[in-house]
Amino acid sequence: MKRLLRVREEAKNFATNENILYNSVVKNIVYSDTAVNITLANGTTILADYAICTFSIGVLQHNDVKFIPTFPSWKREAIFAIKMVTYTKNFLKFPRKFWKNTQFFLYADSYRRGYYPQWQSLSEIGFLPRSNILFVTVVTDESYVVEAQSNNQTLSQIMTVLKSMFGNDIPDPDNFYYYRWNQDPLYRGSYSNWPTGTSECQFANAQRSIGRLYFAGEAYSQKYFGFVHGAYMEGLRV
Ligand SMILES: Cc1cc2nc3c(=O)[nH]c(=O)nc-3n(C[C@H](O)[C@H](O)[C@H](O)COP(=O)(O)OP(=O)(O)OC[C@H]3O[C@@H](n4cnc5c(N)ncnc54)[C@H](O)[C@@H]3O)c2cc1C
Repeated sequence: MKRLLRVREEAKNFATNENILYNSVVKNIVYSDTAVNITLANGTTILADYAICTFSIGVLQHNDVKFIPTFPSWKREAIFAIKMVTYTKNFLKFPRKFWKNTQFFLYADSYRRGYYPQWQSLSEIGFLPRSNILFVTVVTDESYVVEAQSNNQTLSQIMTVLKSMFGNDIPDPDNFYYYRWNQDPLYRGSYSNWPTGTSECQFANAQRSIGRLYFAGEAYSQKYFGFVHGAYMEGLRV
């Protein structure tokens, strides 16, 4: 909690409207040992002495941003060694609560691993009591499935699973929502995961700056990749 307050306090000094360009998508980054030149999608160019790139590894693995010159092979090898994970929370708001007072429950499908397995209720004390909101999380392969299919298809699958647990008398939700993180060109997934067998050298190469272009974000934290505090600590490192 203390650290969170400190982060907010620090951010007050520089995270001001004057210092942040909102709704600005970076298209090209030309970097060298002396400067970094950034071009936005609207054609604006920004010349900087230094730059810190915090795009997700998923963004770096796609051609959404053009880096000039292209990254050396040791950098590309490290970037592609990292796996981008997708984590999809499917939110349902019901007219009434039909599950018991619990924060979590699990579903184990007989045939399909990872098929709507983890359920969480937000309608509990400390969250959003009486909201009647449930969410079910799917990850990576099952996330790609729900991202590729329509909301109606996903809702129909979720309701079939819920009815198998609570019976056919449960109501339909009034609202249903999920975000397609993998399809968003500003994210290309939710967060990174370093697979088993990743070497110290790959971590070091992923972190390593090239010229005046530096890299920070959750993916470069050897200890806390995937987490907000990993991103924060990498910011401190850089
Ligand atoms: C559904 C979900 C649940 C999560 N739950 C947790 C949790 O419980 N606990 C936890 O610690 N972490 C959680 N995380 C992970 C956490 O959100 C990330 O680890 C954290 O946001 C990483 O911060 P970052 O600054 O490295 O990257 P990001 O937050 O991805 O920031 C990168 C920024 O770069 C911007 N960007 C990308 N491309 C461009 C471009 N071309 N031009 C301009 N801007 C661009 C993006 O818009 C984004 O704002 C969760 C993530 C998701 C998606």
